[in-house]
Amino acid sequence: MAATPDAYPQLMILIGPATALLFAAGFLWAWTLDRKRGYLLLFAAAYATFATGMGLQVLARPGDIGIGVPATALLNSAAALALATGLLRRSGRWPRPLAILAIVLASAGGILWFTFVDDRLSARLICVNVGVAALLGCTLVQLADLRRGRRVDRVVFWIVSVFVLHFIPRALLLLDLDEGAGLVPFLGTSSWLGLRLSTAVSGAALAMVLLIAAMVDLQDELRDERDTDRLTGLFNRRGFEERALPLLTAEQDRPLSLIVCDIDRFKAINDRFGHQAGDRVLAGIGAILRQVLRRRDVAARVGGEEFVLLLPDCDAEGARLIAERVRLALMQADFDGVPGLDQVTASFGIAELRPGESLGVLFARGDRLLYAAKRDGRNRILVQDEAG
Ligand code: GH3
Ligand code: MG
Ligand code: MG
Repeated sequence: MAATPDAYPQLMILIGPATALLFAAGFLWAWTLDRKRGYLLLFAAAYATFATGMGLQVLARPGDIGIGVPATALLNSAAALALATGLLRRSGRWPRPLAILAIVLASAGGILWFTFVDDRLSARLICVNVGVAALLGCTLVQLADLRRGRRVDRVVFWIVSVFVLHFIPRALLLLDLDEGAGLVPFLGTSSWLGLRLSTAVSGAALAMVLLIAAMVDLQDELRDERDTDRLTGLFNRRGFEERALPLLTAEQDRPLSLIVCDIDRFKAINDRFGHQAGDRVLAGIGAILRQVLRRRDVAARVGGEEFVLLLPDCDAEGARLIAERVRLALMQADFDGVPGLDQVTASFGIAELRPGESLGVLFARGDRLLYAAKRDGRNRILVQDEAG
């Protein structure tokens, strides 16, 4: 059946819900890449719900408006709730239930009141808009620290802020509404088109940013997995090199030291307590190293029971103090689940970067000192000058 000319604007207006549905499908697809990111399902639900609300509004005939309009309003509020919850879950947080309940009750109550008790279109639409803005505004307050986070988190924060702010001109436009004329004439006004356009543009920009953020999150997590040693939570050799090389070039005029550390007689621990107990000891050593480290230090497990620590802005003497702290902490540690293990010791080699030296050469010097420490009787620290 051919569409009549009058049907074209209606069809055009369906582009909005169709686009929102496409974004919902995009979030669903992103979720299938990594199913533990449940927040992507919330984003999908938000956009699908929003599309349904918009679709209802577009397809509603004048006679249906009694049910269609409050339904759309409630669906839009539900979409905002899913969006807000998804944004918080993405950062590992939960919505504040009391604040959410208060906003949802006030907004839904207002929508129903201004539909069935006091039929006032502008008041009803303002209830929706203020409710959505309040939900997302609360979310932004909870996510304030994203402003200082990764670039992708900062972009998410600001795009949601823009999205929240765009509800102010929306509410002002609604104050213009000719109440007596009702909704149907309003649907043809430029104010209404302006509202739709602002929702479409900001909603699409938000969805694009959230989809890109999902991809960046996934990429970052894969990179972390690639660079991290699962057992200890420290970097692996690859992760270490990736972070060490820039430090080597950045610290030209400041000292930079490397500690190479190997657990003494680890094979005996494995033989006596079993490989799994050995693994628990390694995990415990990882925890000890993390405690000792400063923020910019880089620590890695580079071999079975060999660890390295790269210490920016730290000379060999400073590194020796840190190695001594690690040595004592290992000797005093109580390794979970390995009763009967009285003491773990380690040997250390420390080398301070020489001008123009490469990471490989620095590492080899540290390693030589480490093996000299082993020969000297283990459970000790050798620093470059002592070994010549
Ligand atoms: P040394 O004091 O000379 O360093 O003696 P060592 O026994 O520590 O050194 P050696 O190189 O002979 O043995 C290292 C042992 O570390 C052998 C290997 O089974 C064990 N090992 C390596 N990787 C792992 C691991 O991931 N888990 C466990 N449990 N053991 C490991
Ligand atoms: Mg060893
Ligand atoms: Mg070893």
